[in-house]
Amino acid sequence: MHAIVIDGEQLSWQAMEPPPGPGAGEVRLRVAWAGVNRADLMQRAGHYPPPPGTSEIMGLEVSGTVIATGPGVEWPAVGEPVCALLAGGGYAEEVVVDARQVLPLPEGLGLREAAALPEVFTTAWLNLFMEGALAEGERVLLHAAASGVGTAAIQLCRAFGHPCFATAGSEAKLAACRELGADAGWNRHDGSFVEAVKAWGGADMILDPVGASYLADNQQVLNADGRLVVIGLMGGRQAKLDLGRMLMKRQRLIGSTLRARPPAAKGEILAALRRHVWPRLVTGELSPLVDRTWPITAVEAAHAHMQRDANIGKVLLSVGG
Ligand code: NAP
Repeated sequence: MHAIVIDGEQLSWQAMEPPPGPGAGEVRLRVAWAGVNRADLMQRAGHYPPPPGTSEIMGLEVSGTVIATGPGVEWPAVGEPVCALLAGGGYAEEVVVDARQVLPLPEGLGLREAAALPEVFTTAWLNLFMEGALAEGERVLLHAAASGVGTAAIQLCRAFGHPCFATAGSEAKLAACRELGADAGWNRHDGSFVEAVKAWGGADMILDPVGASYLADNQQVLNADGRLVVIGLMGGRQAKLDLGRMLMKRQRLIGSTLRARPPAAKGEILAALRRHVWPRLVTGELSPLVDRTWPITAVEAAHAHMQRDANIGKVLLSVGG
């Protein structure tokens, strides 16, 4: 098979041995489309090594067709079109994955759209509803809201009755966030979001991929009993926490990553997604937002686009789709 190999500063599409397997409980997919995620840029730069025992190849999600199944796999069957959440290995013609990390295509969606679902809808679902434990009607602040994860999170907030405030880096991005269902927004280049979010009513939960540079402001706008779920460190990793405010407001700070969770844990999150999110993708209430696509051999252009913060929603690579 061919796969994208990190060769110093360069990425190249090279012939290589396909991954071994499928072993017990695993399936082999012929990849049609691979999703690009911010994590891929970090992995490429050497800041986000793959979890031990997983593929060195970039790529956290794909869509494709099942071409072999290992012992004990009841679903999916050979020939089925599916999408999958990976710990790595997606920038390739073939990938082997635990069957618990595989989902069917929502009826009405093709392989292209399906590749835009696994990583961002799983991350958004996990952190809004499982880690963040949103209760009825609670208000949410979403940072980097026009990102892949953010555009999924806005739609989930709207669908499940949670008013949300979006921050993003341009008026065009904020307009897109409003169109997806955000109730209010703030351009991060206009200074601190604190007054705008306070005037909106504060947040009961914050989904934050920024980290250090937002910590003090996040604490200012987090309501009593609020949860701050940190899922990324785009704004750095070291910052001062106001423990007094945390204590008096009963704020909770939660750190969360998806990639290194074992297949059983990923399977539980995907089962919840299949139950609560997949039916809404079928009706069109939720839909993946695809920004741009490139052939996988043009992966450099796709990465440069994301690195420039130019995407609204998902960037995809066509592999065999
Ligand atoms: P993406 O589509 O590439 O979007 C990232 C956006 O973040 C950029 O377009 C930019 O938008 C904004 N941004 C960049 N640097 C920033 C900074 N210093 N401060 C504030 N905003 C900044 O990203 P994605 O793949 O959806 O991922 C979004 C974030 O979630 C990443 O941090 C990623 O690592 C994290 N993530 C975490 C998990 C987990 O399990 N913990 C899983 C998936 C993703 P603007 O121009 O609008 O500012």
